[in-house]
Amino acid sequence: MTKPTFSIIAPIYNELENIPELYPRMREVMDRTGEPWELILVDDGSTDGSTALIRKLAENDDRVRPVIFARNFGHQIAVTAGVDYARGDAVIIIDADLQDPPEVILQLIDKWREGYEVVYAVREERQGESWFKKTTASLFYRMIYRITDVDIPMDAGDFRLMDRKVVEVMKRMREKHRFLRGMSAWVGFKQVGVSYKRQPRFAGETKYPLTKMIKLALNAVTSFSYFPLQLATYMGFIAAGLSVLAIPIIVVLRLTTGTALFGQATTLIIVLFLGGLQLISLGVIGEYIGRIYDEAKGRPLYIVSEAPEDAVAGEP
Ligand code: UDP
Ligand code: MG
Repeated sequence: MTKPTFSIIAPIYNELENIPELYPRMREVMDRTGEPWELILVDDGSTDGSTALIRKLAENDDRVRPVIFARNFGHQIAVTAGVDYARGDAVIIIDADLQDPPEVILQLIDKWREGYEVVYAVREERQGESWFKKTTASLFYRMIYRITDVDIPMDAGDFRLMDRKVVEVMKRMREKHRFLRGMSAWVGFKQVGVSYKRQPRFAGETKYPLTKMIKLALNAVTSFSYFPLQLATYMGFIAAGLSVLAIPIIVVLRLTTGTALFGQATTLIIVLFLGGLQLISLGVIGEYIGRIYDEAKGRPLYIVSEAPEDAVAGEP
């Protein structure tokens, strides 16, 4: 098989109903480019029979390359594995649920041909998603934009094209807690956005419940910012400053009015409040330490139970 120009990566976690729609649509769009391509389907521990379907597609079309995980490792890791196995000059990451229309890939490719090395797709509109998801997502992108030291584009998900140069840099970034859209902004190079309308899911339910979204948000913040750690310092200065101001006031009040100013309730509230702040700060430090611990263990990012037949053995 000739080396593909384009590698499409679609992570799959129980998308049995979407794959039969994804594959023909992708084939139709990619054939229009007139260049060789491959579709890497990363099976992230599916339990609904998606795995068998992926194998079957690969048997019938050798442009489909399956990477099958030993268990569910999560979306960001699945995409990482796809990037590791990709051989194309340009690598495109897309969701398997057709929320990102494959047709937009042609626009990404146009920008790549103009010389851009990262082309990210910006969601100018999101259809078929709950008010809650849209609001939290919007808040999330704006918070990340403000507190991180990297200019991570707003309202852009992982749907993007990356040039081989960028991919080679990304492959050297083996951090365990990954926020790919941040990492691909961090590397630099010539970047540009293309806007598109995010569609409703073709079939099935979201595989990103609130708990996973919070995890992703935490990874985003801790990977690209020390802001939560600095928050403890700021709060400390504020509390210390307030008490320095309070001391002379209380001394004067005690001497002039002669009564104890604050009762037990006030003391209790202040102790609980400061205790709470201290525990929160400890938790924040814990988040960072846990991440250091995960890095120190040096485990592989993922375990592949079936790699594409033509792939080099081991983690690429
Ligand atoms: N996904 C995955 N592993 C997971 C969760 C999701 O590979 O643990 C895949 C999923 O199959 C889909 C993509 O990641 O192709 C995006 O997930 P989803 O559509 O559920 O997220 P949403 O679009 O709702 O944010
Ligand atoms: Mg989706």
